[in-house]
Amino acid sequence: MKNTFAFVKTSAIVKTLVVFVLIGFCSAEVFAQSAYTRYPVHVQVVDPDKAKLKRLVSEYPELIVDHVSSLGYEIYGSKNLLTLLKVRHLNFVPVVVEVSQKNSQDYPSPEQTVARLLELHAKYPKLMTTIEIGKSVQHRSLMFARLTAKPDDSSLPEFKYIANMHGDEIVGRELMVKLIEDLTAHYGSDPRITSLMDHYQIYILPSMNPDGAAARTRFNANGVDLNRSFPDFTTQDNENTPNQREPEIQAIMNFQATHHFKLSANFHGGSEVVNYPWDAQEAAFPLDDFVKKISLDYAEKVPYIYQSTQFEHGITNGFQWYQVLGGMQDWSYHYYNDIQLTIELTQTKWPSFSTVDQSYQLNRDSLLGLIEEMNQL
Ligand SMILES: [Zn+2]
Repeated sequence: MKNTFAFVKTSAIVKTLVVFVLIGFCSAEVFAQSAYTRYPVHVQVVDPDKAKLKRLVSEYPELIVDHVSSLGYEIYGSKNLLTLLKVRHLNFVPVVVEVSQKNSQDYPSPEQTVARLLELHAKYPKLMTTIEIGKSVQHRSLMFARLTAKPDDSSLPEFKYIANMHGDEIVGRELMVKLIEDLTAHYGSDPRITSLMDHYQIYILPSMNPDGAAARTRFNANGVDLNRSFPDFTTQDNENTPNQREPEIQAIMNFQATHHFKLSANFHGGSEVVNYPWDAQEAAFPLDDFVKKISLDYAEKVPYIYQSTQFEHGITNGFQWYQVLGGMQDWSYHYYNDIQLTIELTQTKWPSFSTVDQSYQLNRDSLLGLIEEMNQL
């Protein structure tokens, strides 16, 4: 995800100007204590020097880095982080996410999202079932939709989409609900959808972090970043066990272990790019050509992603962008040979609800196309 100042919704130039004005006023007092105390500080560092970022991460391993761009990067951490930034002479500004009450309320609640899935299942029982894979920290339902025209044929290849693992990145959740509506409503009339539903089992989890969505925060209700908390084969936390992990992670891990997914993607917001593995290490991915190809196939059909000014043709290798340890994407392939992409849908994490339909229309061809890539596996 590249740099985004959610409080400024105008041009990049204006963003830059506002950042530099704000730097002058920046002090620790502006960082309100979050309800989730593990990461009370969320700032934009205005310094593109990657060597300094590397040093910062080595000095402060629990730091969460996000949205690296030509301007700098976002980081989350404890209050000590502010001292370290000052010692290192790194300029920073708080990331203030202001979502109007109306904008917030226009989106369905997590409960309404689950209710919508149940409603669709009731309407299209031959095409769709729901599977509750577990509950969140605050006991909200983690509910997959399973879509196929041949529900009794468990031998059909399995595909998976997961969205909203960062609770404040909401667009993916809505696109997933729209995709489910599309797949069910147009089976039998749209040849492309009919073919997908006839040949595959498509699993879609619109929200992996409903507590975060309800509170409009990145983290789950224990203050944990779910996309940094999977087993990681490059670190000491490399045992593929759900024990001692967050309930949302446990639910995904247990579900994955009982399926044979070949291809999947997870959705984020705050940037616009298709990110392919690895995230954790520099070494080339075993299927490097293939993941580049399917990333490009996704991006080139979405003009606003393909025409990115930060990423050539709207795609990037994860590690080359910035290292992520404990991400779902790498875990998925390393432990299960389930190739996974990480797709950043929108610069603004929580845009006006009125933009969602257009986002779906812009991504629809690619969302269907990525499932069709299964025919190459
Ligand atoms: Zn994210």
